[in-house]
Amino acid sequence: MATTDIQDHCKNLILDSSKTLLCRQGSTCSDKRLFGMQAFWAQIYIIPTKVKKIIEAHCRSYLWSGSNAITKKALVAWDNLCSPKSVGCLNITNTYIWNRAAIAKQWWDIEHKQDKMWIRWIHTYYIKQQAMESVQVPKQACWLVRKFFEARNLINQMQIQPTRQSLIRQIYYQAITARTTVPWKCMMFQNAARPKAVFTIWLQLLGRLLTVERLAKWGIEVEPKCCLCQMHDETREHLFVQCEFTRKVWRRVGQWMQMQYYNPVNWDQHQQWLIHNSKGKSRKAQIFKLVCTEVTYAIWIERNARIFEKHNRTWEVIAKEIMYVACVRATPRIYNVIHSFRF
Ligand SMILES: [Zn+2]
Repeated sequence: MATTDIQDHCKNLILDSSKTLLCRQGSTCSDKRLFGMQAFWAQIYIIPTKVKKIIEAHCRSYLWSGSNAITKKALVAWDNLCSPKSVGCLNITNTYIWNRAAIAKQWWDIEHKQDKMWIRWIHTYYIKQQAMESVQVPKQACWLVRKFFEARNLINQMQIQPTRQSLIRQIYYQAITARTTVPWKCMMFQNAARPKAVFTIWLQLLGRLLTVERLAKWGIEVEPKCCLCQMHDETREHLFVQCEFTRKVWRRVGQWMQMQYYNPVNWDQHQQWLIHNSKGKSRKAQIFKLVCTEVTYAIWIERNARIFEKHNRTWEVIAKEIMYVACVRATPRIYNVIHSFRF
């Protein structure tokens, strides 16, 4: 298998995805479609670093630009996306670590599954009844077999449990560097909102949305006033918390979902309020999570439409759209509750 074939396969998948998907689906599409291709080769083959970097560049470009042309535009570093959601990442599979985990699993198979023909061949020619822990890496063996032997160090550091989780996944999660969890992790799990809305709130919580305040820090000159109220400068805090336009949307949506809007004064209070109401598995928490994610997305889309398309909508129209979307996106568990709310 030529490495260029893997690259071409990856490019074609991205091209195909960008043609068939009308909107960017965030990490979901990027991970499932692209990773499926890599997972097969990663189990039998050490993918060269250069190829892995090219594949990552395509995945990264697709996530941030929606096309298969390589671009360096990214609001979050790729490595920061490849950790679990609980630490504020998107849980995109890290190809490099997955490949190492998959090869380490081959060594585990050599140790435990001696009924396979190729494993018996390795035992007969290279291991020859020696202890698995101390057997030397055979210098005469081909490159791939030597890599299996070298993967022994990784698997020896792992604690393999007899669980339903696949062995590669167990090794993979143990090999990922531990990071501290983020307080808003509850927003990222079991959120029924549209993937692009979840992606937007994730960027908002990380403080990576390209607001005027952030653009100004990079020396880009743009109109500083908030396009929703024309009263104050646009910051994340103003746009999503303090802006009267946003508050009107929240009050209307809150009235619909029988929940009083809390009127937070600053970003920290707003975030605390989100976390407090999204924690747990109750129906109320699930509905709140869905609605607040769609509110954030709607405000961001309205802001962009006003700036780039000169198209304005009223807060009543936006609030109504959020309610309709929430009804459509409701999971079976919250369907009856959400459909009992009166418009
Ligand atoms: Zn405003």
